[in-house]
Amino acid sequence: MIPQKFEYSAPTSLEDALELLAQGAKPLAGGMSLIPLMKLRLATPERVVDLNRIPGLDRISEHGGRLHIGALATHYEIESSPLIRSRCPLLAETAARIGDLQVRNVGTIGGSVVHADPAADYPAALLALEAQVHIVSRDSDRTMLIDEFSVDALITALGPSELVTEIIVPSEEPGTGVSYQKMKQPASGFAIVGVAARVRKQNGKVTFARVGVTGLGAKAFRAAKVEELLVGTAGGDEEIRKAAAAVADGVEANSDLHASAEYRTHLATVYTARALKAALAQAS
Ligand code: FAD
Repeated sequence: MIPQKFEYSAPTSLEDALELLAQGAKPLAGGMSLIPLMKLRLATPERVVDLNRIPGLDRISEHGGRLHIGALATHYEIESSPLIRSRCPLLAETAARIGDLQVRNVGTIGGSVVHADPAADYPAALLALEAQVHIVSRDSDRTMLIDEFSVDALITALGPSELVTEIIVPSEEPGTGVSYQKMKQPASGFAIVGVAARVRKQNGKVTFARVGVTGLGAKAFRAAKVEELLVGTAGGDEEIRKAAAAVADGVEANSDLHASAEYRTHLATVYTARALKAALAQAS
């Protein structure tokens, strides 16, 4: 339970951090996932670069119709930010459902998306929001969609010397209904299944639906079939039920000591219907 010896740096500028990353250092944000892995010696970095002293990396701002959320923003800062609560309530609602207060006080959105746990909560909401991830290194600067960023369980498209600096989400259009519903693992709070829904209605018909699902498969995914079945309907109970029944189509469901594949698939159907119902009740 003692990590391998490592060199620790806590730079106060992004440039210095990127230089250390280029030399092979491993970033440390909240340490909620990295430190346990180091203690178990599943991760054995020789150099660790602590990002917490870099000013501005936790900034939350709005420009160009989008919210820019610094990678170092903690789950608690996201759940309690007046800007996120009013302009992107789905993300605030999702952050508030992560772990417990201790975890939310320290864990960061950047650390969560890079760790890419298949049971993490943010990916469901970020997929429904069609979020982007801003990535920099000493020599490059790029932005990619969350769907392309997340490759598989615990695997992302991030290069070894790259840093996530921001998560970018849309400032929500008025009238959009949103909801995040999850069945949590009782000890850790991780999602056995979690479903995020964003919907809009016009003249009594659903005109827009985005559904992100976490916990069910090896990585979180957009439930395109559910969205397709819902759009154009009145969004009544029967239509929600039919759409939700398609959530696991083509997905190989996870099976572990917390839930069998069959039970997870059942939960995904139930929680998709709940998320859609709650989101549609808000949509105007
Ligand atoms: P760290 O542990 O510091 O880093 C994680 C990984 O990301 C490391 O590989 C690190 O090098 C890399 N990294 C960190 N920041 C960056 C960056 N900006 N750019 C590039 N790489 C970076 N999560 C949930 O979603 N739902 C839960 O219910 C939940 N419950 C939890 C309960 C417990 C008891 C614990 C310990 C964790 C739980 N988590 C849960 C995970 C938690 O949300 C973590 O905060 C998160 O997975 C990692 O964030 P972190 O800031 O601690 O990252």
